[in-house]
Amino acid sequence: MVAVTNQISCSHCGAPLPVQPGEILITCGYCGFTSVVDTGKPFEFEHSLILNTVTTDQAFEVVKGWMKNSFIAPKDLSKKSSVLEENLVYLPFWVVSGEATSHYKGIFERVPPAIEKEGDITNHYDWLVLARKETDFPTRSYHLSLEGKIPFEATKIEKNAKVLNSEVTSQDATQSAQDEINNLHQYLAKDRVDRIIEINTKFDVSGTFYLHSPIWFLTYGYKGKRFHVLMDGASAQIVQGDLPGEEFNVI
Ligand SMILES: [Zn+2]
Repeated sequence: MVAVTNQISCSHCGAPLPVQPGEILITCGYCGFTSVVDTGKPFEFEHSLILNTVTTDQAFEVVKGWMKNSFIAPKDLSKKSSVLEENLVYLPFWVVSGEATSHYKGIFERVPPAIEKEGDITNHYDWLVLARKETDFPTRSYHLSLEGKIPFEATKIEKNAKVLNSEVTSQDATQSAQDEINNLHQYLAKDRVDRIIEINTKFDVSGTFYLHSPIWFLTYGYKGKRFHVLMDGASAQIVQGDLPGEEFNVI
């Protein structure tokens, strides 16, 4: 077998681009140009960037503020914890926009007598799909504001930050968005009827774009253990954070 060279050149500036297995889109760290790895075809979607507003010095201060405001954190957590790792990562997302309409039919029986009921659920979505397969990130608890997005620019990326490439095609992202919206509408329909007889969801996609958004992956230490926190670099909000469990709460 011939070894595959996992390096291509940027078709815009010629800089070498290291490609990891599974990556489908690759963004040049020098000029910011995005190429499609397999087909060599030009990338046809809008590529946007959300700017990071948090410096490395500020990142752990934000985490300490979050610890102080937590009711369940040990009282000495913000004082006794120390920062172990602070990594700024620009995560790739597909944003699939469109209108989803579900028509449902079901049985309403929480107040007798049980009756058959039907109706529609219609919502507009800018649905976020993480473009990585193994990265553990709670996309549904991440409330990204798209208002601050700008065209992707390599010069706006901090030297110490990492930009991850997409492992997901736009078609797969659209399918995921559709499946997830389907599930959400099932959930919403169950609020209106107690038993669903049938539900049909139609998702009209009006646009799709690619986006890199800044997330801080932070690790802190407390009493010899490690804990992870994810922070939105645009809003400085904690997306998800681990807190020491009950064994650390001295009563
Ligand atoms: Zn380039």
